[in-house]
Amino acid sequence: MKRISIFLIFSLLILSCKQYINAQETKSKEKKTATTTVQINPATVKKHLFTLASDEMEGRATGTPGIEKAAQYIENEFKRIGLSYYGELTSYRQNFKHKDIEMFNVIGVLEGKSKKDEFVIVSAHYDHLGVKKEGKGDLIYNGANDDASGVVGVLALAEYYAKKDTNERTIVFVCFTAEEMGLIGSKYFGKDIDADTFVAGINLELIGKEPKTGPKTAWLTGFDRSNFGKIIQKNLKGTGYKLFPDPYPAFNLFFRSDNASLAKLGVPSHTFSTTPIDIDPDYHKVTDEASTLDIGILTETIKAVAIGTSSIINGKDTPTRVVIK
Ligand SMILES: [Zn+2]
Repeated sequence: MKRISIFLIFSLLILSCKQYINAQETKSKEKKTATTTVQINPATVKKHLFTLASDEMEGRATGTPGIEKAAQYIENEFKRIGLSYYGELTSYRQNFKHKDIEMFNVIGVLEGKSKKDEFVIVSAHYDHLGVKKEGKGDLIYNGANDDASGVVGVLALAEYYAKKDTNERTIVFVCFTAEEMGLIGSKYFGKDIDADTFVAGINLELIGKEPKTGPKTAWLTGFDRSNFGKIIQKNLKGTGYKLFPDPYPAFNLFFRSDNASLAKLGVPSHTFSTTPIDIDPDYHKVTDEASTLDIGILTETIKAVAIGTSSIINGKDTPTRVVIK
């Protein structure tokens, strides 16, 4: 008992010291304030991740009952957060058919204040590889990092911006379908848009593990294709979190995720990632389970994306367009 109470007193002491230090830091460094005021709840992050990557979702293969469950979870969250429908749609679903498979993107919108006709996309793909046809043991491709982690980011950012209620530009939160079948959902989404009105694309892929660039860092695909990355770096100054160019240029990752479908239309659309994809033992394996991710890294990365993209969301910065020859 005594040990516990001494421990308690010490904890309280440390806590109050911490609070004092925090207060001092807040006073001295304005940028630091930004990091501490961004509230992304790790418990919510964890709940989203473990739900989307659960066995119940059966690997979220496009056109299966598993992905339907994932879609319903996303829709319920969009509704709870208070997002509206996209364009002429009468639900969060953008339905279409591809190779006789009925599929749909899940889209929610947070209308902008003064620049509501300028759009910023925040996206991730909610599909994955489904279930292995044969074999023993675990047969489910849970796709926790790929790309439940990104969808968690989309949901957490939607909630963050809805609560903040200061976005000057309209934010379109898109969970793309059929990425694993060849970026099908994002290509469909891109078909109908007036690309000039889309000022930026923030795509999230594999953001739940520590990258080879070190703790509190992420990397961005296509870093030199626009000044989007430089804007993010500027906004992250003083936060302790850093953004690097994609360290795997040979993998051609810029063209391997949904950002590419919009980048090909000229939109400065890039993918954030944190995973050491060259050595990751779980990439496209049944072992890509929620338990292999770090909730702290996932939460910190979502916060960093919120801070890093803030000047684009509030209409102060407009990244240069992507030109693909
Ligand atoms: Zn992916």
